Amino acid sequence: MSAFELFILGSNSAVPAHGRNPSAQILKHKSCSILIDCGEGTQFQMNRYHIKRANLDYILISHMHGDHYFGLVGLLNSMRLNGRTRELQIYGPPELDPIIRLQTHYDEGDWSFQINFHALEFGKFQVIFESADLIVSSLPLKHKLPCNGFLFKEKPKLRTIIPEALEKFAVPNSEIFKIKQGSDFINSKGETILNQVLSKEAKASFSYAYCSDTIYDEDLLAYIAGVDLLYHEATFLKEDEEKAALRYHSTTWQAASIAKQAEVGHLLIGHFSAKYKDLSSYLIEAQEIFSDTSLALEGNAYAIPYLVGQ
Ligand SMILES: [Zn+2]
Ligand SMILES: [Zn+2]
Repeated sequence: MSAFELFILGSNSAVPAHGRNPSAQILKHKSCSILIDCGEGTQFQMNRYHIKRANLDYILISHMHGDHYFGLVGLLNSMRLNGRTRELQIYGPPELDPIIRLQTHYDEGDWSFQINFHALEFGKFQVIFESADLIVSSLPLKHKLPCNGFLFKEKPKLRTIIPEALEKFAVPNSEIFKIKQGSDFINSKGETILNQVLSKEAKASFSYAYCSDTIYDEDLLAYIAGVDLLYHEATFLKEDEEKAALRYHSTTWQAASIAKQAEVGHLLIGHFSAKYKDLSSYLIEAQEIFSDTSLALEGNAYAIPYLVGQ
């Protein structure tokens, strides 16, 4: 079973084109559902793929280019009309808060739910929120506007107890949590039973990094090294490297080079230029540098850890 499921709703850059939509993704971890960026049309894509608005817990917005947030107010309004009562957490640039307020100001209907807006800082790697088993951090991306990427990391898991060993050494229930945390057990005779006799290694913790939009930037490597799945923008093909630099975007080769140097498990590329209808060159070029690459195609779900051949 996968730790995370990533669902792509939009992976085009700038304008909708060739049936592709601007940036939006849903990341699911256990019962937690996070929308990452919310380009225009996101709620239509959610309808199309039967993703329930009511289930969203968090919305994260990377930056103030319209292709990453113009779908937000429509989505919020639909949540209201659906009678949502649960609080919603939104994390994004400080400039987004007054825009949401202004766009909702003239509708006199009551908001049925509380929106908690959390203004993000830029230019630093920092934890932005934690849940019981997940840590979400911002990644400092270099783009024309201040821009954050996001890193989602499962917290370290507890060790797995061996029931037969607990029975054999008469371990009381009150000690089990400590053993899961790695403690040895001292019995009533004062004998120490080592933890590795009573428990097995904890299951692995997995991670996902979202990097859109950004110029090629090796400073990112320190933060995303070894992630199980990396989404990195590849707006342009390699022939457009100069244009990519001028516009603070990346090419296929550059995204793949970041994935290779960071030794990630798998790379997803997206934020495709509207200039290209056929995306096959994107995949071919990226795989020249990093073979474990896929295109972020709308309507597709990607498991993390990414299992080849799924
Ligand atoms: Zn963009
Ligand atoms: Zn942008």
